[in-house]
Amino acid sequence: MSDNLYNLLRQRFPPDLAQTFLETETGAAYSYHDLDQQTSRYATYFSRLGLSKGDRVLVQIEKSPQTLLLCFACIRAGLIYVPLNPAYRRNELRYLLADAEPKVVICRPLALPDYSALGADLKDQIAPPRIEILDEQGAGSLAEHCANIPPLFGTTPCAGSDVAVLLYTSGTTGQPKGAMITHRNLLANMSALQETWRWRPTDVLLHSLPLYHYHGLFIACLTAMLGRTKILFLPKFDAASVTTHLPRATVFMGVPTYYTRLLEHPPFGQDTCRNMRLFISGSAPLLEQTFVEFQERTGFPILERYGMTEAGVITSNPVNGPRLPSTVGTPLPGFLVRVVNEAGNDLPAGEVGEIQIKGESVFAGYWRKPDETAASFTADGFFKTGDLGRWEPNGYLAIVGRSKDLVISGGLNVYPKEIELAIDQMDGVAESAVIGVPHPDFGEAVVAVVARKPGADRLTEESLLAQLKEALANYKVPKRIFFVDELPRNAMGKVQKNLLRSQPDYRAAFSPARPA
Ligand code: AMP
Repeated sequence: MSDNLYNLLRQRFPPDLAQTFLETETGAAYSYHDLDQQTSRYATYFSRLGLSKGDRVLVQIEKSPQTLLLCFACIRAGLIYVPLNPAYRRNELRYLLADAEPKVVICRPLALPDYSALGADLKDQIAPPRIEILDEQGAGSLAEHCANIPPLFGTTPCAGSDVAVLLYTSGTTGQPKGAMITHRNLLANMSALQETWRWRPTDVLLHSLPLYHYHGLFIACLTAMLGRTKILFLPKFDAASVTTHLPRATVFMGVPTYYTRLLEHPPFGQDTCRNMRLFISGSAPLLEQTFVEFQERTGFPILERYGMTEAGVITSNPVNGPRLPSTVGTPLPGFLVRVVNEAGNDLPAGEVGEIQIKGESVFAGYWRKPDETAASFTADGFFKTGDLGRWEPNGYLAIVGRSKDLVISGGLNVYPKEIELAIDQMDGVAESAVIGVPHPDFGEAVVAVVARKPGADRLTEESLLAQLKEALANYKVPKRIFFVDELPRNAMGKVQKNLLRSQPDYRAAFSPARPA
């Protein structure tokens, strides 16, 4: 029996395939029958193009129901789905294209020139991919080629250990790494979430997350689909539109920024939440203040959970039972979670150490990066998360920081190394350090501290930012640039980012407590 995830999803379809699995804000409804037929058409088209099991399909399009259908079509056909944030610029795509080596790229109309140029540039490294267009209305060459295909595709047999999805996370080295997520990983994590969050067919999930990330794609959509929960689908997060549609939903998922923005939206309140069962937050720390204010405004304690691309959701506060702010609850079924000191010994409650995890949801490694994969696991097979945590006396885990150099801004990860490399290439820059500082809306804001080369006095914050906007997706571009004569370094020559992070001027750059 094949362990293709699509088989399992298919088994969970309701007997009445005409039932709606997804509805858009404009009322367009997609049934399970539509899902099955459209994924079949896409899968047939890919196989007609000569793609076979394990080939990559790179997808960089705006969020739409077709994005979701494409993902499940690839899984069904045993192809590896590679979703990318539409914000990435040509510069960032070059590396990803060469690394993933997709046979097919599906992009927005406006990205066509970028992909055509990159395909030609990289022709000595990779076979140029076939490029197809799909816009957010579902129109474009892909739709035209698939329209008349009879939906007769079965499911490609796959082992649980076959890779279903490559999800790129940036790396401490500055180069993005493709996390290989297998069919079994997804199944294990989604099944654990089904049980933990008690999804039911009477639930309605209001979906406003992006679909190029584990959170919006699998934690939200796949769990809902496996639980036959209808998805009310918004193209993006917007406090006003979420407030409008929430009365029809029972479950909402978001990053902490969504919750602070809802609180800043006066019409959002108890009445909006009249049919709600559960609000879930993850991908970045939820401030206790947000938890408390949200509960005061709506009566709901937000359920905070902890997860990462490499493992899905790892721990969660309970559905029934106390949800404690500033904690991420207990391990999901199937996970071993430990907090260890530098020697790798388990720490008792109250002591801070690195969080390490093991279980069926933990990914198969980084694509074509065996050394980085090996370095991220311990000798006894635990994945080193790079997050710092401590067990609370009641057995809940609390995340207290990160040992990895990572900034999370509005729920999106920014690895300083990548930004530093981009800044260091600019004329007049001697060196740079990128840090995260507190920000009331984004949680953390990306800030760069730059030392100029002698004589480069004409290099300004504005000129540097203008150049960076050309090179990087907007969310990675620093919100402020501070100039210094030189960066603080320790005796080993390593930049002391902790000193930069604690600099009052930098810390107060966006915080409301900014001194007069
Ligand atoms: P990503 O791979 O984009 O999902 O990012 C994973 C990282 O986000 C984790 O390693 C943590 O550093 C952080 N993270 C996720 N959930 C939480 C949470 N509830 N509290 C604090 N940090 C979190």
